[in-house]
Amino acid sequence: MTEVTERPIPPADQESARHYSRAKLRLSLASTLAELILLTVLAFGGASLALEQIVVRWLPAHASAWLIVLGYVIGLGILFKLLALPFGLAEQNVEIRYGLNRQHWGSWWADEAKSLALETTLGIAAIELIYALLRSAPQIWWLWGWLVFLAFSILLAQLAPVLLFPLFFKFRELSPDNPQEAELIERLNARAAAAGARIRGIYEWKLGEKTVKANAALAGWGATRRVLISDTLLRTAALEEIEAVFTHELGHHVHRHIRQGIWLQAGLSLAGFWLSAKVLQALNAPLHLHGVADIAGLPVLALVVAAFSLLLMPLANAFSRRLERQADDYVFSSMGKIEPLVQGLERLAQRNLAEVAPPRWKELIFYSHPAIATRIKRAREWENRRTAMAES
Ligand SMILES: [Zn+2]
Repeated sequence: MTEVTERPIPPADQESARHYSRAKLRLSLASTLAELILLTVLAFGGASLALEQIVVRWLPAHASAWLIVLGYVIGLGILFKLLALPFGLAEQNVEIRYGLNRQHWGSWWADEAKSLALETTLGIAAIELIYALLRSAPQIWWLWGWLVFLAFSILLAQLAPVLLFPLFFKFRELSPDNPQEAELIERLNARAAAAGARIRGIYEWKLGEKTVKANAALAGWGATRRVLISDTLLRTAALEEIEAVFTHELGHHVHRHIRQGIWLQAGLSLAGFWLSAKVLQALNAPLHLHGVADIAGLPVLALVVAAFSLLLMPLANAFSRRLERQADDYVFSSMGKIEPLVQGLERLAQRNLAEVAPPRWKELIFYSHPAIATRIKRAREWENRRTAMAES
């Protein structure tokens, strides 16, 4: 942690930031496209039925529906993992090429294995549940499925930072015995109190062993509510910058953004579940499925969900950027100045090799946060308005 920072923070080389951003976008578009193609081949090319037959042949005769679903999901999971692995490796290589990586390959593979175990467990549980509902309530399974999905995703989004992050990262609670940390704890607690937010502990998030990137978050519920600040931020940023980044998170709390996000997700996912039920109903005969509860129809469901969320991505991102603007405004009005946040954003941009001013179309479609240049411009406008008001 440094007491003072010399301004201005040198911006990251924008030429290489542009290349980095382009490489990442290209990879994520390519992997999405590959997944869509695989799903289409499975759903409409007969491959899904073939996979189901292989699974049934392997299992003992009269295997239960649960067991067939399990076998099929494992088979499908292996296919998708094999497809995703080259993209994951390529992405890690991009991080290395742009000097952002600090993780050894051994640790990278260990993380891959851990997330595979997690995804397998959660995926099997979710799909078994959906198909149990499809078998027992083929008409309104989508309504029950939606309710379960919603409850589960709300729970997971809130608890993942507390339950799952520690599988991948180390954390250490800041200590009031360290004078610099004591000052930070005091400042953040005062900000939280002013925002009416209760927090239980401020933690150093050891991101630095894996990446040079910086991050901060407010996570958890009730007794698990905590502040996470990456060591990469703690070590480089001034106290006021960290305070500003944290106050931005409090802005989300003050404006009840989590609740708004849940309402939006509830509405969109209800539409998604209903739509996938209709499509499955319409296609199950033409695709030679044995009814809607036939596990071979899973790629059809996945395709509908994937297409639906891709189409809605710009809308969801526009909504998210609106909330981010409100959170930034909260920082300006509660701190009474823009410099700490502007400086914090500049520092994050520099460390994360962010494209400060991406093309407008890219921001509109893909960005969940306004671009750094957009956010800084908005800060300056706030400052100008305040000066004008003070003069009049
Ligand atoms: Zn935010």
